[in-house]
Amino acid sequence: MEIRLAENYGFCFGVKRAIDIAEKSKNASTYGPLIHNKEEINRLESKFNVKTTHDIKELEDSDKVIIRTHGIVKDELQKLKESGKQIIDATCPFVTKPQQIVQQMSQEGYRVIIFGDENHPEVKGVKSYVINKPIVVISVDDLTDLYLGSKVAVVSQTTRKISEFMKIVNYLIENVKEVRVFNTICNATFENQEAAFKLSKDADVMIVIGGKNSSNTKQLFTIASSNCKDSYLIETEKELDEKWFKEKSVCGITAGASTPDWIIEKIIEKIRSFSV
Ligand code: SF4
Repeated sequence: MEIRLAENYGFCFGVKRAIDIAEKSKNASTYGPLIHNKEEINRLESKFNVKTTHDIKELEDSDKVIIRTHGIVKDELQKLKESGKQIIDATCPFVTKPQQIVQQMSQEGYRVIIFGDENHPEVKGVKSYVINKPIVVISVDDLTDLYLGSKVAVVSQTTRKISEFMKIVNYLIENVKEVRVFNTICNATFENQEAAFKLSKDADVMIVIGGKNSSNTKQLFTIASSNCKDSYLIETEKELDEKWFKEKSVCGITAGASTPDWIIEKIIEKIRSFSV
């Protein structure tokens, strides 16, 4: 069986940057997980004593606080700044961008529409920068009964599919007089998605590696499954099952933007060890 890697996969610029920052910030705490990958978070803790905290109160014992790649809510950032702690900002610049855009647009009187998952930390963070009332939508259906006013500005969660974003944009253009569109979808995600789409057409089994709570990994899995019905989403080599590879000739591999190379390598090694 041939093992084929996607042309683009794995760590993106924002995650590489955040890990680099964390490795240089020994004994710091992150507020919320730095990235969506448990294994890498455990490595940072055991090797660099970078701890993850989930509650702002737990940060009281730390002098140094790292802001995760997805960013945090504006008020919480303000509170941390006022508490006198050293703030190390690892928010990905592609996430800071929509935060700035929505703040500016809402100041200019535009109704802000955010396309994304309202429970995702990135979306919660972006939403907190809107000074009027933002609307968060996951599909066009969420917009149809709403009064949108005469001027709107629309941004997307960085990990969303462009085709879905276009549906929202098209609806807005048809229904609102003035629409400001900001394509805030991150290229890293897009490139990984394109490559997964291409590879999954040729593969008869696809392994998607990444955190099961990672939005961009889940998107890759959806894309892979659309072309290859034998697609599996796994976090570590322990989840692999030899049966998946029986009588397959091409195994495609892709990985989410928070998946480190060392995990991917371990998985490839284990697949190679199977007698298929
Ligand atoms: S996927 Fe894009 S937006 Fe998210 S951390 Fe990576 S580079 Fe930044």
